[in-house]
Amino acid sequence: MAIQCDICIIGGGPAGSVLASRLAAWGWNVIVVERAAFPRRHLGESLSPGVLPLLETIGAADAIESAGFTRVRRVSVDWDVATERDDPAGRGLLVDRGRFDRLLLDHARGRGARVLQPARAGRRRWTGSAWEVEVTLGTRPMTLQATFLADASGRGGITGSRRPTGARTVALHGYWEGKGLPSHPKIEAGPNRWHWGVPLPDGSYNTLVFLDPADLKTMSGTLGEKFHTLLAGSGLIPRGAEAFLSGPVRACDATPYLDEACVSDAFIRVGDAALALDPLSSSGVQKAIQSALSGSVVVNTLLRRPESAELARQYFLHSLSEASARHQEWAGAYYGLVACRRADPFWQKRATGVASGPLSPEMGEGIAGLTPETRLRLSPDVRIRQVPCVGDSFIEARPAVCSTALGTPVAYLGGVELVPLICGVRDGMTVRELVTNWSRDMAPARGMESLRWMVSRGLLIAGAARQAAEKGGGS
Ligand SMILES: Cc1cc2nc3c(=O)[nH]c(=O)nc-3n(C[C@H](O)[C@H](O)[C@H](O)COP(=O)(O)OP(=O)(O)OC[C@H]3O[C@@H](n4cnc5c(N)ncnc54)[C@H](O)[C@@H]3O)c2cc1C
Repeated sequence: MAIQCDICIIGGGPAGSVLASRLAAWGWNVIVVERAAFPRRHLGESLSPGVLPLLETIGAADAIESAGFTRVRRVSVDWDVATERDDPAGRGLLVDRGRFDRLLLDHARGRGARVLQPARAGRRRWTGSAWEVEVTLGTRPMTLQATFLADASGRGGITGSRRPTGARTVALHGYWEGKGLPSHPKIEAGPNRWHWGVPLPDGSYNTLVFLDPADLKTMSGTLGEKFHTLLAGSGLIPRGAEAFLSGPVRACDATPYLDEACVSDAFIRVGDAALALDPLSSSGVQKAIQSALSGSVVVNTLLRRPESAELARQYFLHSLSEASARHQEWAGAYYGLVACRRADPFWQKRATGVASGPLSPEMGEGIAGLTPETRLRLSPDVRIRQVPCVGDSFIEARPAVCSTALGTPVAYLGGVELVPLICGVRDGMTVRELVTNWSRDMAPARGMESLRWMVSRGLLIAGAARQAAEKGGGS
């Protein structure tokens, strides 16, 4: 039995569903092949504040907001210092990924995508003019013929040519139920590992331990025993809690990676199939959705404007590489906060920069030497020019920031246009003033991350005030 479609998407997680919603809404005949029956448990339950705004772009935010998932208003962080991070607006979400993923897949169905589920995609073959994908729907084998193939099969799906972009890491996790469990998430640094507790909307509590696979190997006992030993050294389960593990302890790879073979004229990888971030940022789902949104524009361009195919491919690879590099830098600095006081190889291996500590609870952490009062100026090397970028439905020319140090021009920084941010810089502005000005377009933590990136790339230079004073001028 053969089924025809324009675009076959393997995987119905957030990336696959968002890609399907977009492409089906643009009139493409889309089929999503998802091997699991939903709802099912899946890691990635703590969603960063950027997820809902991204879902608004495909009209799915209302369905998620009205599902009653838990808003994150407080996170306990015991990293370089012990602190409570409050967000009264509750912009982050704690979700049951079974329900969350089902809502997004239903949204794709509502946009006209067909879904085969539970159906496993097996061998794939390019005939020279189309893809043939072997699919097993339940127990029934069938062949899918598609003009375009998208891999959205996630970390545990089809492996391509993944290059690790950080230290090898394994995550052990288990779900708890019972009384006295924490009501808000907790992140803490341990001796040669870090711990994460995530309370879920159904009352269960996911506990995760991230460590070096080599360290796990040296421990004796079963996986469950190792997990209990590691957890006993954490503060995730409060004393006096009457709780029990409601399922098996599982281990999974949590190493960040990038697959540079992520796009060709008839193939794309989106979400974790292309780029996986260090879970420390808890922004994997946000990044997966972002790559699906930009990936949809790339696919549309490849199919409808083949004359722009080269631009579209270049754009996609560049945007993923840039996101990976930026994230690596952020993660390195964040591990660096602990590496300052812990000599264990776990921390030293992961730290690439020593951060100076939190600027303010909303602003996140700074990089060496930067304080909220540091004055900044724009590098004289910065220029603006037109480059190919993602538009509403095609890759188009847009203004981008260029500089010698930057190498490739950059138009967007994590989905936000860079040129308006750069144009907002006035000589002598402080870090605090700039991040506050940008807060109209992005959250302060994100603004701080962008600012750090601009300083590290030499677009912004610290020390404008002193220079201005030396010249006898004000700011
Ligand atoms: C330990 C750990 C903790 C994490 N915690 C967080 C967190 O708190 N917050 C966060 O934002 N991110 C987190 N992440 C990252 C997050 O899980 C992923 O970034 C996100 O799920 C990626 O979405 P996706 O759609 O690309 O892939 P997935 O969500 O993995 O979806 C892929 C889908 O493809 C299907 N599939 C796979 N192979 C096939 C096949 N052959 N045929 C058919 N279907 C197939 C799977 O069943 C699955 O439903 C974490 C990651 C790890 C490793």
